[in-house]
Amino acid sequence: MNGLDFAPMTIGIPTETFPGERRVALVPAVVDTLRKVGVDVILQQGAGEAAGFPDSAYLEHHVTLGSRVEVFQADLVAQVRTPGANPPGADADLALLRRGQILMGLAEPLTAGAAARAVADRGVVLLAMELVPRITRAQSMDVLSSMATIIGYKAVLLAADRLPRMFPMLNTAAGTVAAARVFVVGAGVAGLQAIATARRLGARVEAYDVRPAVKEQIQSLGARFVELPMEATDAQDAGGYARSQDEGFYRRQREMMLKTVRGSDVVITTAAIPGKRAPILLTAEMVRAMAPGSVIVDLAAERGGNCELTRADDVVVAGGVTVLGPTNLAAGVPYHASQMYARNIVTLVQHLVQREKGPDGKPSGPPRVVLNPDDEITREILVTRDGRVVHPRVAEPVATP
Ligand code: NAD
Repeated sequence: MNGLDFAPMTIGIPTETFPGERRVALVPAVVDTLRKVGVDVILQQGAGEAAGFPDSAYLEHHVTLGSRVEVFQADLVAQVRTPGANPPGADADLALLRRGQILMGLAEPLTAGAAARAVADRGVVLLAMELVPRITRAQSMDVLSSMATIIGYKAVLLAADRLPRMFPMLNTAAGTVAAARVFVVGAGVAGLQAIATARRLGARVEAYDVRPAVKEQIQSLGARFVELPMEATDAQDAGGYARSQDEGFYRRQREMMLKTVRGSDVVITTAAIPGKRAPILLTAEMVRAMAPGSVIVDLAAERGGNCELTRADDVVVAGGVTVLGPTNLAAGVPYHASQMYARNIVTLVQHLVQREKGPDGKPSGPPRVVLNPDDEITREILVTRDGRVVHPRVAEPVATP
């Protein structure tokens, strides 16, 4: 009983199996917080190694090490990529899941409906981390924001590495080096971090977003807001996300952005509309208008890309311009990505786990996950329950002819 007066719940942390995935869902530093709410951790041996967390660091926090099969016997399994975000490698894991268990992690719920149904068929409760609502009290559970922070940072490093120029302006005895010109399209979480990172490297940064509300944030980071003489209709929804515009709007946007694109050494695009294909904001023609050696990093590649030439996880060179479409940049900074992801997971677990109170008002029963339908956070992230997909936004089955 670990010195506790109740049987602890267990949370299992398997090794990630998606190709190139180096993150781990839980880091040693957060284990003590879980133990305080009565949750013990069982980790697949070596699960944290690729992220820089050896087994010995977990052992210091009294984590049990086990096999993959043992880890999947836990009450709750936390992954970075649950089956929906790990095709098709997760099929073998489905057989390890058991009825009544809880599975939490990234699940691609809006596109991977079949995986959600497969999890439902196992009688497992699936909680999708992408669906944590963007509300103030859920901020510390918001993996989209924490991963976007990392992605925006890393995108700038990728661009700087590919660019045949330096980012900072330098006056040297061998002459003057002009600062690189960086244009960031879409100033959400990833875009703002890209702006900040490019500024730290000394670039001249310009940025644009359809949501006029971000103008001040862009300027406060030392970048110039590119004013396009056009206004989006209802640019922003209640959740702070951009709304989809019609094709006429995007055509005008492309025309008006051309001058800035042509004058930029680096363009980083992050423009996304939740649940929709990303809008095309850079045509092949616009790419060819850029100087040879320029670099485009398309962070919307996973959603179809903001650039017409983007190929996901590939490098395209057109007219000397390099177009990168990385889809898993967070895995390239696995230490801090795991640290932030783990904090998001633990805050959510703390939110969900409760112990019944005794007559004296003190917690007395064993810890258990309470799925309260009146709680907005629980309602939003709950994808499967009682053998069914219960989330209204999760893809319907594709009818087979
Ligand atoms: P996202 O990844 O969905 O989109 C990235 C950016 O692209 C957004 O800023 C969007 O406005 C922009 N965009 C869309 N179409 C565009 C176009 N045609 N041209 C230029 N830009 C375009 O967004 P995100 O980073 O996940 O978050 C967006 C916003 O959500 C935040 O800035 C914030 O207002 C809100 N948010 C709130 C919370 C919270 O309250 N907890 C947390 C995170 C984000």
